[in-house]
Amino acid sequence: MPDANPLAQARVESRYLVDMEMNCIVCRRRLYVPDVSIEFVLASLEQTGVAILICPDGHAQLIGRKMPSGCQPHA
Ligand SMILES: [Zn+2]
Repeated sequence: MPDANPLAQARVESRYLVDMEMNCIVCRRRLYVPDVSIEFVLASLEQTGVAILICPDGHAQLIGRKMPSGCQPHA
């Protein structure tokens, strides 16, 4: 049976999505999303346009797919 699980494919695409050539502004290492929170991070990215990634040194970086100026999400 060919593995055509759409969820598995989405997960792969999600990994590419979060690896947006974003580097830590502190140590310049590549940022990543821990597997335990990747769904939370992706959900945040979808809903608010921003998410928190972590570099190998543990620096948390707020990244944004889009930068709304002065536009806060519904609180
Ligand atoms: Zn860092």
